Amino acid sequence: MFEKTGIPSEEMIREKFPPIERINKGPVAVVECYKEIPCNPCETACRFSAITIGEDINNIPVLNEDNCTGCAICLSKCPGLAIMVVDGSKSDTTVQVKLPYEFLPLPSAGETVKGLDREGKIIADVKVLQVQNPKSFDRTPVVTIEADRSIMYKIRNIRTEAK
Ligand code: SF4
Ligand code: SF4
Repeated sequence: MFEKTGIPSEEMIREKFPPIERINKGPVAVVECYKEIPCNPCETACRFSAITIGEDINNIPVLNEDNCTGCAICLSKCPGLAIMVVDGSKSDTTVQVKLPYEFLPLPSAGETVKGLDREGKIIADVKVLQVQNPKSFDRTPVVTIEADRSIMYKIRNIRTEAK
């Protein structure tokens, strides 16, 4: 399935997530890089040495979740939009998720948008909490949403209504 479509299985996705105990402590990166490719901006962008690729630039990045502060710099720098940040410390019923978002128009804080899974299917309405637009050519805008915990391993993108 993954080789044909590029869509990871739920098992593959869960392997990339830090343990739920870490997610519930505060924001932490989820580095969804599945293929060996020559790429490393995530590693070089992290000031906390939380991502390691090693000597071979083709290696798959490995996250040390204890070093990660959830700052989302790597997320903004990843050309593959492969990273998100999840924070389960704010509520027992919801999680906050930072997502890379490269479409226009950008949503606005307070807006309700459609939450999409990795196949692009609508799975829920989610609330936009914050939009960070770095206005730098090498940084991707970051949209923070609040989503129900039941879709934490499914939510991967959003869709706004045309304005
Ligand atoms: S979220 Fe921040 S601390 Fe965590 S891996 Fe990315 S750059 Fe490093
Ligand atoms: S920057 Fe993104 S695509 Fe490149 S190695 Fe890191 S996670 Fe993978």
